[in-house]
Amino acid sequence: MRSRALAALVLGSALLAVPLTAPSPVDAVGPLPECRLADILTVPRDYDNWSITLVDWLLSVGEDYVPPDLVPVSDAGITGPGLIRAVAIADLAAMTEAAAAAGTPIAVNSPYRSYQEQVASFNGWVGVDGYDIASTYSQRPGHSEHQLGLTIDFMTKGGGSALQGDWATTPSGAWMAEHAWEFGWLMSYPKGAGGSYEWSDASCFHYEPWHYRYLGREIAAAVHESGLTIREYLWTHFTMVDPTTGLPIPTATPTPSPTPTPSPRVSPTASPSATPSHTPMSPSPAGGWLGLDPPVVAVVFVLIGLLILTPIALAARRGLIRR
Ligand SMILES: [Zn+2]
Repeated sequence: MRSRALAALVLGSALLAVPLTAPSPVDAVGPLPECRLADILTVPRDYDNWSITLVDWLLSVGEDYVPPDLVPVSDAGITGPGLIRAVAIADLAAMTEAAAAAGTPIAVNSPYRSYQEQVASFNGWVGVDGYDIASTYSQRPGHSEHQLGLTIDFMTKGGGSALQGDWATTPSGAWMAEHAWEFGWLMSYPKGAGGSYEWSDASCFHYEPWHYRYLGREIAAAVHESGLTIREYLWTHFTMVDPTTGLPIPTATPTPSPTPTPSPRVSPTASPSATPSHTPMSPSPAGGWLGLDPPVVAVVFVLIGLLILTPIALAARRGLIRR
């Protein structure tokens, strides 16, 4: 029982562990899921794990996700409206200054958007192009990186709309494409196969040369070096949800401990057979006997033993006395 309690404690601690800054890559769910419209709550999605929280066609942060530290983008000395998370301000300021120093100044077009604002935006595009086409270039509510408070649609400072043409071929857009990662920012939706503007199977989205997400310098550098999109990199290393079932999966530890067969994750008094499985780590029948918890099995065997042995012992005792 002691080792069992210890194992449960270790497992529990691993599940509760929350990386604070720049978590190290681990093996997450494995193969990248194909592009599919779904509404799976992303894991992790707590506000401290901002750098590794992923939203895409499948993954959503849900309606209630409102970052707690939104501040005006102007706090970074950049021109433009709206809000961004405070965690991104210092690097946004450094990037703004560097872009201006290079003679390719940038400004903010559209930063944080709430769930409700995304509802209005998405519905507007559905009205124009219909649901199927609109979802290739406008994220459904809950699935927008803008709701993370870490994403900005940039434009050239003093210039026109970045949404027309290919902003990455303009001086400011080209500077961003080359240097933004050095400041922790990355283009989320690069061109697709064959240079497609319309669709990328890697990002599951339309090409958006103006749309950059903040990941922090460490992870942005790793993604940049990998040559992957943000979506591919986070799915591969950090996203902890089963893309098929939509259920969270336990956080993998970098150094696997020799944990025995997973025990049923239910209270010791509950009967596993009466409890439907809610986790991928479902109780294994091989761990018990007739589906019973090992301690219950032990008690049953002791009782059976007493029932059989007691009469024999008594009979033997009588026999001894008779002799
Ligand atoms: Zn955008």
